[in-house]
Amino acid sequence: MSNTGKREKNAWLGLSEPERNGVFPLCKEYLEFLNTAKTERETVAYLRREALKNGFVLFQEVDSLAPGQKIFMDYKGKAAIALVVGEQPLDEGFNLVASHVDTPRIDLKGAPLYENAGMALFKTHYYGGIKKYQWPGMPLAMHGVVVKKNGQIIEVNIGEAEDDPVFTITDLLVHLAKDQMEKKMSEGITGEDLNILVGSLPLEEVAGDEGQAVKIKEAISKILCQRYDIEDDDFTSAEIQMVPAIKAREIGFDRSLIGGYGQDDRVCVFTSFKALLEVSAPQRTALCVFADKEEIGSVGNTGLRSFLLENVIADLFNKSGGADYYRVMKALRCSCALSADVNGALDPNYEQAFDKLNSALVGRGVCLTKYTGSRGKSESNDAHPEYLARVRCLFDDNGVIWQIGELGKVDQGGGGTVAHFLSRFGMDVVDCGVALLGMHSPFEVASKADVYSAYKAYRAFMQEFK
Ligand code: MN
Ligand code: MN
Repeated sequence: MSNTGKREKNAWLGLSEPERNGVFPLCKEYLEFLNTAKTERETVAYLRREALKNGFVLFQEVDSLAPGQKIFMDYKGKAAIALVVGEQPLDEGFNLVASHVDTPRIDLKGAPLYENAGMALFKTHYYGGIKKYQWPGMPLAMHGVVVKKNGQIIEVNIGEAEDDPVFTITDLLVHLAKDQMEKKMSEGITGEDLNILVGSLPLEEVAGDEGQAVKIKEAISKILCQRYDIEDDDFTSAEIQMVPAIKAREIGFDRSLIGGYGQDDRVCVFTSFKALLEVSAPQRTALCVFADKEEIGSVGNTGLRSFLLENVIADLFNKSGGADYYRVMKALRCSCALSADVNGALDPNYEQAFDKLNSALVGRGVCLTKYTGSRGKSESNDAHPEYLARVRCLFDDNGVIWQIGELGKVDQGGGGTVAHFLSRFGMDVVDCGVALLGMHSPFEVASKADVYSAYKAYRAFMQEFK
């Protein structure tokens, strides 16, 4: 058995002719997905739509479980589970691939609208780990929901269509940026500076009226109310996210890479979902978790630190002979998982931040990461070598191009994934995903060959890992 790991093989060269031909159509679909699903809600809606088109049924429509059955569970429209029931009893555990649907972005505050210097603006509170200086000077689209007091949900999506307006955070002109440029990068733009320009046209009846305040904020309120049925107070029960209004695109003369917003972690969401669509009659039940809130610590009742997974397994047992605590915990303990999340690829512009020997390289296949964390592996899962040996054997047996990679230099920082929340149940878990350039930037970069390798890795794992 040849060793395809340890970055020895370029993924493009390691793919067979028909596989290389398969990379581009898969990635074309991935680009469309990135442009369709820019928030967790839009991602879950996409998954639900595609699952139902591909033979999955909603869990609430299922009476009992049978091998081969394909089930989709929607959690508050913000997280989801999709599974193919295996031949073995559920009690013997699942092959689970867990990714996350949330991405770093800029959220609106509860009372966002104000007026200053002849303009209307929105106050914001960013979500997840962003480098704040990357967000000014960027066209932004407004996505999300506003829930009226009567429960009616207004879906908002402004700035994606060709003739839609967009929004932006203005940057300080370089001519006057002497003080700003002398600051540390982390302080050049602060959280309270991330205010979004949303208009400047005053209400007509008072425009130009000498001595009277020009009502620009009120004019925007009026538009929001008349055009979208959103009143100022409705922002109290809203979830509005400002995301880059730029399309995902192919990168390079050879079109070998993909640039786009939100690839952390939608690249793993998409590839694991596509893989699950192809799983048929597995021995062990194959299950994808698409979790929310990973970027802020997997908190909340749609994050994996909650009882979401126990509830899912209890629900499944409830429809197949009855759920009790022991059965649920045993099934979780006997499961095996890939924490499907991205890693940082060695960046030629910032080599100093990486350990070249142990960092993932672009185009060398899906990346296995034994541990994440920071300050000496703190908060990481640190997978057992016995488990890693079985996973790499699976990948080699199935021709998956893979590499090992840890996140940058030891003392440069670090990060976490959902791996340690899964490991609490006793299941074995290791991080496995695509290595990105510019992770958490408004335009992250992935290699198409790595996207394909991830899809192949997840498919092999869910179809036949034992
Ligand atoms: Mn992630
Ligand atoms: Mn992230």
